[in-house]
Amino acid sequence: MKAAAYLLSGVLGLAGIVFLIACAAGNTVPRLIIGLVLIGTALFIAKFARSKVPDQRIIQEIDLSGDITPEEMICNSCGASLDKDSVHVREGGIFVECPYCGTSYQLEEAPKW
Ligand SMILES: [Zn+2]
Repeated sequence: MKAAAYLLSGVLGLAGIVFLIACAAGNTVPRLIIGLVLIGTALFIAKFARSKVPDQRIIQEIDLSGDITPEEMICNSCGASLDKDSVHVREGGIFVECPYCGTSYQLEEAPKW
């Protein structure tokens, strides 16, 4: 399909060039117009054939769990519920410091997939 469009475009373009050359031999204005129309059509088909190629773009989105609900947070050590103030982001990791038992550990998120 794409190759056929390029072939048609090439044939039309060549015919247009032939008409442009032929206009020098006489009957100038109609041949010039036909030649320009043929070249224009050829360019249009070539552009159309090129734009037909599906633009495949992979969009990767990193979904960060920005808001951690404090209700879900429970201390791994003593089981006490942790509030927002006991969660700290440090060195790219989420650290939990329990105010009840004093345990400090890094929170590891379970992968979503
Ligand atoms: Zn604790």
